[in-house]
Amino acid sequence: MRKQRPSKPVRKQRPSKPDLRRKKRPSKPVRKERPSKPVRKQRPSKPDLRGLSLDELKSFILKLDEPAYRAGQIADWVFKRGARSFDEMTNLSKALRERLSEKAVLSCARVVETRTSEVDGTRKLLLEYAGRTRIEAVLLRDDERITGCVSTQVGCKFACSFCATGAMGFKRNLTAGEIVDQMISLRETAAPDRLGNVVFMGMGEPFDNYDNVMRAIRIANAEWGLGIGARRMTVSTAGHVPGIRKLAEEGLQVHLAVSLNAPVQGLRATLMPIADRYSLTQLLGAIEHYSERTGRRATLEYVLLRDFNDSPEMADALAEIARRLLCKVNVICYNQTTDSVFAPPTDRTVESFLSQVRKRCPTVVRRVSRGSDIAAGCGQLCVPRDGT
Ligand code: SAH
Repeated sequence: MRKQRPSKPVRKQRPSKPDLRRKKRPSKPVRKERPSKPVRKQRPSKPDLRGLSLDELKSFILKLDEPAYRAGQIADWVFKRGARSFDEMTNLSKALRERLSEKAVLSCARVVETRTSEVDGTRKLLLEYAGRTRIEAVLLRDDERITGCVSTQVGCKFACSFCATGAMGFKRNLTAGEIVDQMISLRETAAPDRLGNVVFMGMGEPFDNYDNVMRAIRIANAEWGLGIGARRMTVSTAGHVPGIRKLAEEGLQVHLAVSLNAPVQGLRATLMPIADRYSLTQLLGAIEHYSERTGRRATLEYVLLRDFNDSPEMADALAEIARRLLCKVNVICYNQTTDSVFAPPTDRTVESFLSQVRKRCPTVVRRVSRGSDIAAGCGQLCVPRDGT
């Protein structure tokens, strides 16, 4: 699979930007075109019960000439009890279980590896789905809560220069069932404690896989599903403007976090190529629209990169944006990724940056990075090519 970038609108040529990645993968040799295969009819794929709503489960079960209440029983097994096979569903007849395994699938990960941080107890799961697709999901604990951090894509198209997932390129979207499955896997890892919160801050850009992410959120939120409060879920975007505008219309209570990372267009576009596609002005407009439409405040996330975006002027510009848009601000120090020209600022710089922001915007907090000793911190998730 070739690395895909978001297509850009045609515009005037600008002077080229500095390359912020140290090493570049050699470009692949051009392949000879193969003669195209005769078009084959695609077999309809079997529904994945981990990605269906209760209503969809009902119509699926009615098509099998079973009574509708079976859908509730199946939802209970799939979402509440986390059944990994139809055989476990012992209140269904053997005949029905056999028909289910013929007609449907359950996307359940194989847990390839679990690593636990010795520093803060963060746990990182390496999960494998169909087609040997591997992704990472993380369980974070602090005094008050347990949070699952889930991936939405295998890799990412958006190539933020400080992010390990961005360096991987893009392989495919995760299905809604696979996203829900990550939450179920993390819930099992957290047991007997409760998985209270979910953040969509793992691998990928949630709004580039919009429909599957919304579907997963609704299943996670539903009483018949995982029963996680919408206010306990946070979707984080690199600045996908149409996604923010669409979310504003969903009537969901989830939190929106926007990875701003630079308060001026030039630097932002250098750090995050997505800013060439959706400018800072468009992004701020979308956040404003979102807040007006939903009455909810978004959070601006800001990764501090030494000598790039940690000056007092940047702090002022960030604070000004946050003040104007009534946003909270989350500042996090850069977590080391390989092949990177970046470094975290010193503690002193971080503190003076925070106090500079605080002068105009009191709702700024420093987010302590967790799990960085096992590469489970923000921006460190990545699966080597031979592992996918
Ligand atoms: N694509 C989404 C979600 C995945 S990244 C987004 O960009 O928001 C989740 C968060 O990790 C983002 O806020 C991102 O800016 C941050 N991040 C990326 N690389 C990082 C790094 N090396 N150190 C610290 N945070 C990083």
